[in-house]
Amino acid sequence: MRSARLVAVLVIVLGVFAGVLAWRLIPFPSRGATSTIAHGENGRVGYVVTGAGATLSPSPGDTGQEIAANLIFPVTGEAAGGYEVLDNCNRAGWIAVDQVDPGFVPSSRSQDMEGSVFVIDAGHGAPDLGAVGPSGLTEAEVNIDVSSRVIELLYSARDVDWVSGAVTAGSTYQAAAAAIPTRSLDGPNAGDYELGLTFRAELGNAVEATALVSIHHNTEPTADTEGPGTGAFVSANNEQSPRLGGLLVDELRRSFEGFDADWVGGESSLTARVEEDGDDYYTLLAISEVPAAIIEGAYISNPSEEALIMTDAFRQAYAEGVYRALVRFVVTDDNPIPAPEPELYEVEAPPRSMDDCITPA
Ligand SMILES: [Zn+2]
Repeated sequence: MRSARLVAVLVIVLGVFAGVLAWRLIPFPSRGATSTIAHGENGRVGYVVTGAGATLSPSPGDTGQEIAANLIFPVTGEAAGGYEVLDNCNRAGWIAVDQVDPGFVPSSRSQDMEGSVFVIDAGHGAPDLGAVGPSGLTEAEVNIDVSSRVIELLYSARDVDWVSGAVTAGSTYQAAAAAIPTRSLDGPNAGDYELGLTFRAELGNAVEATALVSIHHNTEPTADTEGPGTGAFVSANNEQSPRLGGLLVDELRRSFEGFDADWVGGESSLTARVEEDGDDYYTLLAISEVPAAIIEGAYISNPSEEALIMTDAFRQAYAEGVYRALVRFVVTDDNPIPAPEPELYEVEAPPRSMDDCITPA
């Protein structure tokens, strides 16, 4: 009798353990996707997440290369029982339907969180470390941590205290229809791998993102400032991009003001750099067909700010600022900072070559 009861208890304990384990093994993006996206007549596959043992081919029928699990690719078409994708190195490829988890996005957008789709881009990724702080903290590692925190906030219903800025579990704002990272902590090398700028923008285009936010930290300040020197680069050719950038700057400053630092900053909080022909200077903004902004949270080059950027509290404040900006972008017409005059930017810096870019295996 006693041993039968012991067996029953063991079965229950093991069952719970197996359930938890199975839940943990489901890749993070698809877990969110399947739990929050309405499938059916309103959904379509906008991106895919690779499964274990997936093969990426140049086109259907070609010999492919084995690639890692939990890579996120934008879907550009469907052919021969698979998806046409753009890989992280900006190369077109094809992958069989049974080797990926489909990432559904609704076919229309609405002015509420549950009808919105967000792409959150963690700037840089090895071997491109981005800016490096005086004590060695890299942008690549911080940006992906902040990006993951934003994704997590977007995947549940939330309340916002618009005075303190606190974002908590609640019911005022519903979970987003989809929140898609360009690279995630569940990916190979904990998400630290290279992404092309075209890839990042095309992911936003493929899912018709409500907004694409690229998370960065700044260097080369030009002034000591009273408060946080948060700034954003926005598009001169997308009407909603400056409003998105302005909201990000506004909310990040609200987030950071409570922290104590020897703040530094630049000339202006919103900048739109263009080439001679009027195209956006930054590839991500030039290729993006959706409202996009590159947000430079704090100056990682400034020892005082680098010390803050190392802390959980500051990274969470960054993520909550991005979340609040996205809520305001969707549900209000707020436009806190006037759109900047486009400025000609003629620095001859060839874009980083993608010739040696690798799709992780
Ligand atoms: Zn950067």
